[in-house]
Amino acid sequence: MSFVVAIDGPAGAGKGTVAKILASECNLLYIDTGAMYRAIAYASLKNNIDIKDENKIVELAKNSKIEFISDKTYLDGNDISEDIRSMEVSSIVSPISSIVKLREILVEEQRNMAKSNNVVMEGRDITTVVFPSAKYKFYLDATLDERAKRRYIENKEKGMDVSLDAIKENIKARDYNDMHKEVGSLMKTDDAIYVDSTDMTIEEVVEKIKSYIEV
Ligand code: C5P
Repeated sequence: MSFVVAIDGPAGAGKGTVAKILASECNLLYIDTGAMYRAIAYASLKNNIDIKDENKIVELAKNSKIEFISDKTYLDGNDISEDIRSMEVSSIVSPISSIVKLREILVEEQRNMAKSNNVVMEGRDITTVVFPSAKYKFYLDATLDERAKRRYIENKEKGMDVSLDAIKENIKARDYNDMHKEVGSLMKTDDAIYVDSTDMTIEEVVEKIKSYIEV
């Protein structure tokens, strides 16, 4: 029987970085569910679909193929790993991900991805909706300032020129929306282990999470 390491938390808490390392060190399949919502947001932009046109976005999701191959995100065979990190996508992804029918489609895909593999899956509703009975559940957090700073440095390294203030505002708006959704709201469950990474290095966070996992 395969098992799931589920990690939820707000934007920029380090879920992706930690999950990637965990996946390679513990031989797990890494699934970035945020990238799936971003892929649909990106596709909506590309197809000039109004973000309020829920039916069209749901149709788009039904007809789109999202794949993860060697750490890259593909949409219908095209590598969109870089495109989905743009501020344009970041600013519309949270409202788009509030569409309940879209969530149903992506949640089903996420469950299918974990059927035949041990996975580490990170997002906002993994511990609550996608895999509420996951063997290992974590809530990764950090202060808003620290998360904005980390995203700012990450963007700079990728050559993206976005101000710290703009990043902070985007993260704040997404957090609020992500915590107030009709379905799939970000919250900490009682049985999830809370990790505050504000004053921890990536390695320390990975070690802490690994200390709970038996592979
Ligand atoms: O993880 P990341 O910040 O890339 O996610 C982008 C957005 O996708 C989040 O702000 C959230 O609105 C949405 N999301 C979601 N459910 C998930 C993962 C991400 O609604 N499981």
